[in-house]
Amino acid sequence: MPDLRTDILVIGAGPAGATAARYAAAKGAKVTVIERRSEVGVPVRCGEMMPSNEEIANMFRNAGDLASLFDLPKDLRLREIIGIKLIDPKGKEKVLDFTGYTTDRDRFDKYLISQAEKEGAELITGCLFKKIENGKAATTLGEIEYKVIIGADGPGSKVAKALGLPKNKDPYPAVTAQAAGDFEPYVKMFFGGIAPGAYGWIIPKKGQANVGIGFSPKFADGTLSEYFERFRAKHDLNVTTRLEGKFVPSEGMLSRVTEGNGMLVGDSAGQVISVNGGGLPLALIAGRVCGEVAADNVTNGRSLTEYQDECVRIFRKPLRTAANNKKLADMLAFGSDRRTEICMGILGVRRMGNLIRCKRIFP
Ligand SMILES: Cc1cc2nc3c(=O)[nH]c(=O)nc-3n(C[C@H](O)[C@H](O)[C@H](O)COP(=O)(O)OP(=O)(O)OC[C@H]3O[C@@H](n4cnc5c(N)ncnc54)[C@H](O)[C@@H]3O)c2cc1C
Repeated sequence: MPDLRTDILVIGAGPAGATAARYAAAKGAKVTVIERRSEVGVPVRCGEMMPSNEEIANMFRNAGDLASLFDLPKDLRLREIIGIKLIDPKGKEKVLDFTGYTTDRDRFDKYLISQAEKEGAELITGCLFKKIENGKAATTLGEIEYKVIIGADGPGSKVAKALGLPKNKDPYPAVTAQAAGDFEPYVKMFFGGIAPGAYGWIIPKKGQANVGIGFSPKFADGTLSEYFERFRAKHDLNVTTRLEGKFVPSEGMLSRVTEGNGMLVGDSAGQVISVNGGGLPLALIAGRVCGEVAADNVTNGRSLTEYQDECVRIFRKPLRTAANNKKLADMLAFGSDRRTEICMGILGVRRMGNLIRCKRIFP
């Protein structure tokens, strides 16, 4: 690759980077996306569950128009979800009405980047961002000159570090795989010692399910693969793929997501619901704002801090509530199966629903 010059350089072709690139390119900016993987979306490290637009609007009232943002082709909506079964350590279920759908994350990511390419963004795969040197991005394929750099490079963001922005504190590890079989149209979340400090999940797809667990290292006394193996055996899951893992930001949005001519979006900005690990809707919502503000910055000098302000308007309250709820759960509900069981009993379905939807659990 010859050394490049671009208006907006996006690091990472995940959902956040692809969406930022799409909306920046749609406004006429010259956009380049670099992605360290050789194939976008592979391997899948995600539960692949998306809430419905109604659920997203209920969580993030200031998110703007969702219909066009989440307008996915039908074949990317694999299975409609009609509820969540919240299962305590003794196996007792509470059923929460909750609508959503599941997708194939590899095809989902490829679709999003194809939308950006359609708008004119250029994608370069197999290209790793290393650092910022003399105002240019140093990558494994050479230097890239830019006017705005967008860090969409996930939870351990190198761009955040290069810009001197805060990093995600205490992210928790999670692993996932596919299991063959027929599963009912409910997401199942298993709480207690099976996945201490987080939960195990079975998320139905077509003829298979996405299965996995997350845990908080401070409550665990083994490796994540050991916990996953126990979870797999307990539920007799016919796992057909390799186990893949990644970190999940756990403390809500970073206090600052812009610095100079740099911006962070998606997991790199901590835009994840800490109480359940959901980040896909946020990556798209923030990606749109990020891309539009970046393009306006290049064409008419709009300040990048307007992106920060908009993120605060959309995410601060719900993500802070989710992070506070997570802290409460860490203090009161995790640590022993008995405590988890008692807390789930006290909360009941309605308050557990509030927990999942980033709302206060007590008035
Ligand atoms: C096990 C697991 C299950 C999950 N399940 C769900 C779920 O069911 N629903 C949900 O909503 N959310 C879920 N999440 C969270 C969701 O996956 C993330 O919030 C989402 O992927 C964030 O998108 P992103 O674009 O910010 O980051 P990513 O998807 O992590 O994309 C970052 C991209 O940047 C690339 N990259 C990284 N560093 C560099 C570099 N230096 N140079 C170039 N490229 C780089 C990476 O290869 C990657 O393609 C889950 C997370 C985990 C770990």
